[in-house]
Amino acid sequence: MSEYDYEELLKKAEGTFSKSDKREMRLKIPDPEVLYEGKTTIVRNFGDIIEVISRDSNQVTKFLTKEFGIGASISGKRLMINKKVTQDEVISKINKYIEIYVKCYECGSPDTEIKREGRVDLLICKACGSQNPIKLSRDIKTSEADMEEGKEYTVTVSEIGHSGEGKASYKGYTVIVPGGKKGETVRVLIKKMRRGVAIAEVLKK
Ligand SMILES: [Zn+2]
Repeated sequence: MSEYDYEELLKKAEGTFSKSDKREMRLKIPDPEVLYEGKTTIVRNFGDIIEVISRDSNQVTKFLTKEFGIGASISGKRLMINKKVTQDEVISKINKYIEIYVKCYECGSPDTEIKREGRVDLLICKACGSQNPIKLSRDIKTSEADMEEGKEYTVTVSEIGHSGEGKASYKGYTVIVPGGKKGETVRVLIKKMRRGVAIAEVLKK
């Protein structure tokens, strides 16, 4: 397989997301503004992020507490996490939240709501009408780091992007798989990552 310019691919991927992926566009999630006070991480604009995903801030905070394995609390628009985490980690956890609680599992639309029926929370999609029980976090979560540059993962290409590149979803990350075909499960090496988008190289099919 020929050499790809990963930086170029990443830029292109970001471009296509912001321009023509309507579903992503409808969720214009602001970049978390992360700052530190001692060992505490503060996400200054957490309230703005919550507003975009339109979920209960306490529920999101509870999710993040579990994910980071440490206390988190809200004060006004701010989220405080009781340890140092990077902006990338915050983005990855928020993306994961969206994968589980916001994006329709069937059509990908973020135009959804959660409704409790009996003992089950359903994710109801206003775009396609589908109703699915909320995925259990443990089905998605493992104890390993979610995704890192230079490491290998197995992903399944779920769609083809505008420039013919394969796209896969992995724990909240969008993985660009050059040469990947829809429905194909491949072992990949992550070459570059930025803001929840990872560029992968296929190792073997
Ligand atoms: Zn849907």
